Amino acid sequence: MSTDQLKKEISAIKGTHDILPGEVRLWQIAESRAREIFELYGYRELRAPVIEPTELFEKGTGASSDIVTKEMYTFTDKGGRSITLRPEYTPSVVRAIIEHRLDLQPQPLRYYYIGPMFRYDRPQKGRYRQFHQIDIEVFGEKDPAVDAEIVEMAHRLLARLGVERVMTLVNSVGCKKCRPAYGQELRKAALAVKDRLCPDCQRKAEVNPLRIFDCKNEACREAASGFPLITDFLCPECREHFQKFREYLDLYRLEYRVEPTLVRGLDYYTRTAFEIVAEHLGAQSAICGGGRYDDMVKEFGGPDLCGIGFAMGVERLLSVARIQIPETSFVYFAYLGQEAKKECLRLARALRSEGIESLVEFKDRRMKDHFSRANKLGAEWVLIVGEDELRKGKFQLKDMVNSRQFEGSVLELAAIIKGKKILETT
Ligand code: ATP
Ligand code: MG
Repeated sequence: MSTDQLKKEISAIKGTHDILPGEVRLWQIAESRAREIFELYGYRELRAPVIEPTELFEKGTGASSDIVTKEMYTFTDKGGRSITLRPEYTPSVVRAIIEHRLDLQPQPLRYYYIGPMFRYDRPQKGRYRQFHQIDIEVFGEKDPAVDAEIVEMAHRLLARLGVERVMTLVNSVGCKKCRPAYGQELRKAALAVKDRLCPDCQRKAEVNPLRIFDCKNEACREAASGFPLITDFLCPECREHFQKFREYLDLYRLEYRVEPTLVRGLDYYTRTAFEIVAEHLGAQSAICGGGRYDDMVKEFGGPDLCGIGFAMGVERLLSVARIQIPETSFVYFAYLGQEAKKECLRLARALRSEGIESLVEFKDRRMKDHFSRANKLGAEWVLIVGEDELRKGKFQLKDMVNSRQFEGSVLELAAIIKGKKILETT
């Protein structure tokens, strides 16, 4: 089969992508910095399966949400069960808490996770079918200080990844007590302009008018601009929570804008909702979205445990990150003959034990060709093993960047390589 034929017959599924070794460095750096920062705040990783029972999301994410109505990757397995590739992470964590009685551990529970999510969305720039999220969850803490903690933590990560020009939008979507009255007013307002709404929002006007604010359609946005605002309907407790949340953001000197039409796409949110947006990214501008879900665990049949969290889209994050990839440094082995080749294999082993990346190629080459190969690969060092070196047990090490040459035993040369590394990193 020719390559072209193969390309046609087997290619990656639409909306998914390979992350190749060059680009993967950026991912590794972003992921390791995220882990490092989250652990500094006492968050610990919780890894849940990629596949879950479909009901988990129908119940958790919400039957009327875009995700559940349009975007789930659902299939029936060989046992006739309905399985879904997780479109978001929170329901999995809630399931794990209930299943393992994690609520019996000292609260708050602070978790993080980094991994792929799946949504049958229309693929476009910044929107994929398999994408990746950095996810944070806290359970068992009512204090709005934790709402601000996760926002501050998100900003620390963004700063660490060189992301600039972002805006934080905050809102309160109220609670079970105050939202129903608001919902009624909103429904009235939405039904009054029903003919100006897209078919999707016409349906939302009936079932969940709050969702109309989340529509990306310009006409719907315009129609919604005259709707009543949740901020005018908050009960005293929600009002106070929102007020305190903002005071804590001020304490951290974080800039934000109150956006009374900010609602999140999922059913379960209560009180705090926030988004961090890179406004220059256009329609796919939300890098991070989060909020509170105080009733979720209970509605799942678990204990009364409030929750809050955020999810950051890694693809969108990397599209605005400015990450310096550190130069890699490795030793290339230049040798002549079979004996020298064997010696190189032993030497490479010794250098790797010292934490030094080492590359022995197996093809017979002349010395000159070894050097052009080392140059082509970008080796910082070349370790030369010829007959003389074999006999003496001392080897030549060439610094390809500064054109210096050293002679020594393998451990002496390892010290030189490491010494330079240390000099460069301090
Ligand atoms: P949007 O309004 O852009 O559809 P969302 O509200 O569906 O976003 P969330 O469910 O809050 O997004 O997910 C959190 C983050 O995950 C988003 O802010 C975004 O960065 C990222 N994200 C969501 N869906 C996708 C996708 N299909 N492809 C790439 N990234 C995504
Ligand atoms: Mg979406």
